[in-house]
Amino acid sequence: MSLNIASLLVAMTLSMLIMAVALTSVMGDVNRAARLGQGGAVLQATGWVLLLASGLMVPGGAADLTLSTLSMGCISGGLACNAAAFELWCGRTTPTRAPAMVAVIMTAGYAAGFSSYAFRVGWANGLLAVQMALMIVTLVRRPAVPVGRWRWLLVVGLAAQMIVTAWRGVLGAFFTDQFPAFLTPHPVNVAFALVTNGTAVLTLVGILLAHRDEAARALERLATTDGLTGVLNRRAWLLAADIELSNSIRSQRAMSVLMIDLDYFKQINDTRGHEAGDHALQFFAMALKAACRSGDTVCRYGGEEFCVLLVGAEEDSAHAFDQRVRAYLEDAAMRELGYLLDYSGGMARRAPGETRMADILRRADRALYQAKEGGRARTVDAGAPARARQGQRASMAG
Ligand code: GH3
Ligand code: MG
Ligand code: MG
Repeated sequence: MSLNIASLLVAMTLSMLIMAVALTSVMGDVNRAARLGQGGAVLQATGWVLLLASGLMVPGGAADLTLSTLSMGCISGGLACNAAAFELWCGRTTPTRAPAMVAVIMTAGYAAGFSSYAFRVGWANGLLAVQMALMIVTLVRRPAVPVGRWRWLLVVGLAAQMIVTAWRGVLGAFFTDQFPAFLTPHPVNVAFALVTNGTAVLTLVGILLAHRDEAARALERLATTDGLTGVLNRRAWLLAADIELSNSIRSQRAMSVLMIDLDYFKQINDTRGHEAGDHALQFFAMALKAACRSGDTVCRYGGEEFCVLLVGAEEDSAHAFDQRVRAYLEDAAMRELGYLLDYSGGMARRAPGETRMADILRRADRALYQAKEGGRARTVDAGAPARARQGQRASMAG
């Protein structure tokens, strides 16, 4: 069976066009990464349509030059868009510019050296192979977020495509008699058409899977974080706390819990409006996070209540955390919110032999109640109930 290059390339272009239309019409509302993925598919499909169209023009004429150059710009621009999309999907917030720069240099050089067939085939295929190599490096690098196996699918597809593309470039540039025209049925050109077809399919699968991965991550974020403050929600925090409790028991490490209730919070809503109340909650959550050491976790336990898990914290460091938060509030609340903000806290530590988080939380809650009863703006330690730690000032939000 002999394979006809023209038919293969026409079929491939048709598949790319269908993919581009499908991707842009079915993905719905998309973010930057998905838009770049879609843009990449559209550009590559357009590039191949232009390339096939250029073959219908007088060889070497102005129309051939214009269509071919535009086609190279679209194909390499499309690759650069896909490279950026996959980098974003791997959790890197600022994609590298190298693939886009290669696209610009390739297109400009191609137009400048168009009159030489050997040069333009070598140049274009060589730099397209460089772009693929850059994409492979991006995909092989350790991602910043958990990423599915789709990246390895793409690495395999791109590696195969890079090899045949580079080989095609070498043939065109240095063995021009073996590959004198775009449609020459040389085995490398046949392999190029087949592999490019396969990579296009893998790219489509990669884009859809990466997009699905991201949607799953967003859902998980929604399910575990508090929408207003960005800290963990109660359910996720309790799971994390249970895990830390087991670690703490196994390694005989201390562990403290600080349960917090903002003082007179209702007054903030009543006198300044619900939006100001929301802002105060965000400010307070940020203050708690800023005071945390690595491994500590904050959650919004509900309403204006927060809970902090202080990993490895004995009495002293747990109280130091409490003091850091109070000092920050004293320093920053007036400046940031325009009024003072204070809280009551209940602290508890894991007692020797204690194995249930619910027991520790119950003691922290009781201590919090005592702090409220004792006049607010203070933290009571369940481990030392007689010693209520006085806050820096009497609390009064307003
Ligand atoms: P105390 O010092 O005894 O804790 O008094 P308090 O006013 O803080 O306590 P109370 O339980 O009476 O009021 C808590 C208020 O927190 C009531 C509720 O409207 C408000 N609140 C709960 N969740 C939110 C929220 O997401 N945004 C805003 N703005 N307010 C909230
Ligand atoms: Mg409350
Ligand atoms: Mg309150």
